[in-house]
Amino acid sequence: MKTITTSESTIGIVGAGIGGLVAAIALRRAGHGVVVFEQAKQFARVGADINLTPNAVRALDGLGVGEAARVTAARPSHRISRTYDTGEETSRLEMAETAEQRYGAPQLTIHRADLLAALADMFPAEQVALGKRAGKIAADEKGISLSFADGTEARVGALIGADGIHSCVRTAMFGAESPRFTGIVAYRAVVPAERVAGVPNLGAFTKWWGPNPQSQIVTFPLNRGRDIFIFATTPQDSWHLESWTAPGSVDELREQYVAYHPEARALLDACDTVLKTALYERDPMPAWTQGRMALLGDAAHPMLPFMAQGAGMAIEDAVVLSRHLDGVAMADVPAALKGFETARIERASQVQLGSRGNNWLREGGNADWVYGYDAWAVPLATPAMA
Ligand code: FAD
Repeated sequence: MKTITTSESTIGIVGAGIGGLVAAIALRRAGHGVVVFEQAKQFARVGADINLTPNAVRALDGLGVGEAARVTAARPSHRISRTYDTGEETSRLEMAETAEQRYGAPQLTIHRADLLAALADMFPAEQVALGKRAGKIAADEKGISLSFADGTEARVGALIGADGIHSCVRTAMFGAESPRFTGIVAYRAVVPAERVAGVPNLGAFTKWWGPNPQSQIVTFPLNRGRDIFIFATTPQDSWHLESWTAPGSVDELREQYVAYHPEARALLDACDTVLKTALYERDPMPAWTQGRMALLGDAAHPMLPFMAQGAGMAIEDAVVLSRHLDGVAMADVPAALKGFETARIERASQVQLGSRGNNWLREGGNADWVYGYDAWAVPLATPAMA
């Protein structure tokens, strides 16, 4: 097994998901020695499409990863809201060039694995420790000691928990508390665009608003428009398995949405296979940092997918974190982490609660407060403000 040397001058990151890798690249660029600990033994092609709105793409562009992400990404032409049964269009936002002019970046939809690969290419592989499932984490005045499931240990000067909704760093900081099953399940499927060529608006991000706030069908282009990604949610009383890869039944999928407009159903009819996932969430937290430890992304603020901001918020967090830690000596890390928390917690909590409310852009409205955020330019919070 590969041994990675760490010390109290290293920043450790638990989790090589999107938030963890963006943080790793940005912190390294800010002058820090960084090691990432990831439980998976290898980067596998798990998950499906991720929606990156202009705020997220601009943050990736500032990191220099936007170009690589664009190689396989699709660029939705519009963001459209429609009523599930009548098909009435209740809002339409131009994306693509219009978003680029207004926000400095377009919306991109990309396979999670392609984005992870583009990010992994920008960080030295020898600084990513795979097969390291963090367990016990103990902090003292000078640093943090980690124990891994394989029996090994590491010592770092600061620790970032980018380890997702079940974050063990969060548990070490604030105690154990399980995420809540929302009573909503999600179906994810991909169909070749040529198979549904008669359906209008295939180049757009379209959200069909259902008969209740838990029911929706979202569709958008994938693989530069060659495929269409379908993400459909519906209420369900209970769930026992939390996984991104559990197979679902296409018959069940079609039954759930019989009341939907024929154009939406035509996409479901074209599916050969579907995956089914339960949706979990947590309440906004009053704090994300403790001494030399901080949380970001889903570890800090797991949210429902209804504003399509989970990855975007993780990316924004990581960029703003790196700006707060830029050039900061280890002794000053706790104050800098507090500054990061102050700068980010209100926005991420607002998006977390907005996602739960599920009303975003249903009837139009101004998207600027979400899409217009520039993680590279927002004012840094000073320790005094924190
Ligand atoms: P995550 O993406 O959850 O990443 C957390 C990382 O931490 C993972 O790599 C995980 O293996 C690692 N980790 C967790 N616990 C430990 C531990 N104890 N020790 C070491 N490492 C640990 N969103 C979508 O919109 N569409 C998808 O198809 C989709 N697929 C996903 C597939 C997977 C396997 C995962 C983990 C997440 C998926 N998501 C998907 C969620 C989406 O990626 C996140 O909501 C968002 O990008 C925020 O990312 P994050 O980096 O904060 O957390």
